[in-house]
Amino acid sequence: MKNEKQPPAGDAIGRLVQEFNKLPGIGPKSAQRITFYLLRTSEEEAQKLADAIVSLKQKITLCSRCFNVTEQNPCPICSNPRRDSHQICIVEQPQDVVVIEHTGIYKGLYHVLHGAISPTEGISADDIRIRELTERLKNSQVSEVIMATNANLEGEQTAMYLGRIIAPLGIKVTRLARGLPYGSELEYADDVTLTRAFEGRSEV
Ligand SMILES: [Zn+2]
Repeated sequence: MKNEKQPPAGDAIGRLVQEFNKLPGIGPKSAQRITFYLLRTSEEEAQKLADAIVSLKQKITLCSRCFNVTEQNPCPICSNPRRDSHQICIVEQPQDVVVIEHTGIYKGLYHVLHGAISPTEGISADDIRIRELTERLKNSQVSEVIMATNANLEGEQTAMYLGRIIAPLGIKVTRLARGLPYGSELEYADDVTLTRAFEGRSEV
């Protein structure tokens, strides 16, 4: 029997429902709710949303030094002379920079890998920004690299791999303390837990 609750995929409503349904955390019901909400709003409001989405893709680029998302290159963190260029904090995703910055505890620079090594998903060291990191560390004034990859299997594997290739460069490698529950993603850590994890970081 045909499900008559779903609008035909070809029309404007169906198309938008399908697009929203692709977003993280939005199921088919929410996708329909948002679509019908937009149908009731003014054309001006709808245009604002559409413009915001398009300018996100047009204006945001990756910083050529740390690979964080940014509207200016180098990004505001890399180009801030008050940041400590002796420390680099390694994170998996740009969202992780946002949560760490929110704590205010860290004053160094970042390097965003855009993923983690995962043999099960076929992601190797060459697929994330590791080569760029080693290039960056060579002839740099960096004295400490802080591993802030996620506290799960992929994050641990990535931290271990990086530790092995960075240690020979004579740079201290530290890992965030275990305050973060195993299996958790940094993105969801609260400020207090994250601050403690930074303070209690230890050499690997
Ligand atoms: Zn940067």
